[in-house]
Amino acid sequence: MALVARRYDLDVRISPSPIAAVPDAPGSLDATCDLLISNAGARPVSTVPLLLYRLLHVERATDTRDPGAPVATRQSIRPLYGQSALQVNSVSVRLRTPLDPGAETTLRLTYGGSPVGYREVMPYVHDSVQSNFAVLRPEVLWYPVLGSATPKTYRQAWSVPEASVKIQLPEGWRAFLPPARARSGPDGTDLFTFAGWTQGLHLFAGAFETSQMHVLTVYHLPGRSGWAFGVASAAEFALGELAAWLGPQAMARRDVAFLELPAGWGSQHLPGLIAQTVADDPAAAFAEVVHEVAHFWTPGRDPNRFCDEAIAHYLEDLLCSAKGGTGAWQAAVARRMQALREHPHALSVPLALATESEELDAVSRQKGPLALAVLERGIGRAAVFELLRAWLASPASAEGDAMDFVQHVSKELSQPRNFDTSRFLREWFLGQCTPELALAEPPEFALTQAANRYALAPSAEADRVRS
Ligand SMILES: [Zn+2]
Repeated sequence: MALVARRYDLDVRISPSPIAAVPDAPGSLDATCDLLISNAGARPVSTVPLLLYRLLHVERATDTRDPGAPVATRQSIRPLYGQSALQVNSVSVRLRTPLDPGAETTLRLTYGGSPVGYREVMPYVHDSVQSNFAVLRPEVLWYPVLGSATPKTYRQAWSVPEASVKIQLPEGWRAFLPPARARSGPDGTDLFTFAGWTQGLHLFAGAFETSQMHVLTVYHLPGRSGWAFGVASAAEFALGELAAWLGPQAMARRDVAFLELPAGWGSQHLPGLIAQTVADDPAAAFAEVVHEVAHFWTPGRDPNRFCDEAIAHYLEDLLCSAKGGTGAWQAAVARRMQALREHPHALSVPLALATESEELDAVSRQKGPLALAVLERGIGRAAVFELLRAWLASPASAEGDAMDFVQHVSKELSQPRNFDTSRFLREWFLGQCTPELALAEPPEFALTQAANRYALAPSAEADRVRS
């Protein structure tokens, strides 16, 4: 498309539901967005396509070249994927004067509505304005994105050019928009600014209280300081262990803040802020917290989620074991095996080829950590930590994918040893691992059996390397 979004200036007002008796009655979002666009194409453009969340409606649009007269908009609900999944409001703004090649203008859009997530198609996306907090992430398109209703446009929601976001909140609330820090804007509002950002605008706001525990800050909902203490204890433990295993991680000490989200909303690690949901079950809660802490060491964002999720889940299992002993580790690994039994197809999807599909989670979050656990039984934990240290220090870990990891392992484990590395990588990363071994009971037995498959007599390995 010839049009390019250059800058956002958002002015957002968050209003909880006036129906106090119904705690989850949706509140509303009202916004004005000044969107600076330019025409990078060779022809004049007179129609500007935009996407918004399906329940946000544009009330008025103006063009700064003629601010007195509103410009016409057409709005329709369109599916992004397939016939009915993930619907969006597709907005078409008809400029009175076409935008010439090389020219720019600012559209002012006044819009609002009640976001209520995408529970029917993305069950973890509950984003809404509740009675004492609000969560609005790029997933729900709470800010307009330039383009027509396609998956490609949707992904642009995460690529934010220069932006400022001014937020008006109810009395007693505070806002977070990582990684920007709030400054006091005019008229007492919170102001956040971004100079180009590739992880989208995540707005969290609410009547949060602050608990400071050692280096950790926990923002929690009122009356939940006990919860905050549990989070801080688990996080402190994970920070200490991970630093000992993988080396210190500068960001992890400087910048650890947790923000409470109610159970079921999904946790998320963002620079400077971990949005954390915590299960009622203490063991599951511990696992959820240490998982997000592990992401300080695994910042990769590869499409098949090996470099971030598989490694983080492997570390999560080890942390459960370090804290709760063998029983906790067995329970964690048994949960993974159960999840794989429910998605047996994932076992035959190569780790290196998993992409966006319903199998992605099973492959990256269940099969991936089990692959590392099998490797651990084959070469020893110290050797796996050494591999991970070298991997996490390399640029490929942040920018690469599972294939880069395969190359890294092949190179690092090229010396003769009692382990058939190439067969292991072929079966677990490039082809089909052996389900009957990976899913046997008890988990420890299954992993050892799986690892034995790759055991070589020392001389056989030396022969294999020579040949
Ligand atoms: Zn994760």
